[in-house]
Amino acid sequence: MAEPLTSADAPRPRIGVLAMQGAFAEHVRALEDSGADAFELRTEAELAGADGVVVPGGESTAIRKALDRCGLLEPLRDAVAGGLPAFGTCAGMIVLADTAPDGAPACFGVLDVDVERNGFGRQVHSAERTVLLDGAPIHAVLIRAPRITRVGEGVEVVGRLDDAEGEPVVVQQGGTILAASFHPELTDDRTLHRRFVAMVRAAG
Ligand code: GLN
Repeated sequence: MAEPLTSADAPRPRIGVLAMQGAFAEHVRALEDSGADAFELRTEAELAGADGVVVPGGESTAIRKALDRCGLLEPLRDAVAGGLPAFGTCAGMIVLADTAPDGAPACFGVLDVDVERNGFGRQVHSAERTVLLDGAPIHAVLIRAPRITRVGEGVEVVGRLDDAEGEPVVVQQGGTILAASFHPELTDDRTLHRRFVAMVRAAG
């Protein structure tokens, strides 16, 4: 009788980490730890070989410009709009989002949330907070983090700050788009990377 697949021998999806700017090397490591074959993604040909993509944090306007320069802006937006699984963290969430109220031209409009850049205020340029992810606490690093100001109907809030307001900081749209306001690649907790790898496997 066939043994059930354990996570060790489940297929390893190929996940491209957009390597324009920001903390991409840490994402590559976190994805490898989480059961994926991760690679740095810079070209349209590499995008064609990806089962999923991560858009890391950094500076959303700089990421947008770099995408434009590499001719990746439209191919990436079209691929994600067409169902290629995507995980955006911090600036990466801004890139996937619908709109940012400061008119920043960074947004792809593929994730039905609005965001406010640097929305946690000047005092929270960088902060360590507890986030409840499906109710379970994880440690989160927020760096000039975007605040989610509107959550569309088809978007599920999966993570909230563990305080009285319980602000949403992790959202999922359908089976393919995941986004976090913070930097999960900067801690050892792999919960979100494992979740995304599972989404990519299920979509494939
Ligand atoms: N504040 C940045 C922006 O607006 C995001 C910061 C980050 O990714 N750590 O793009």
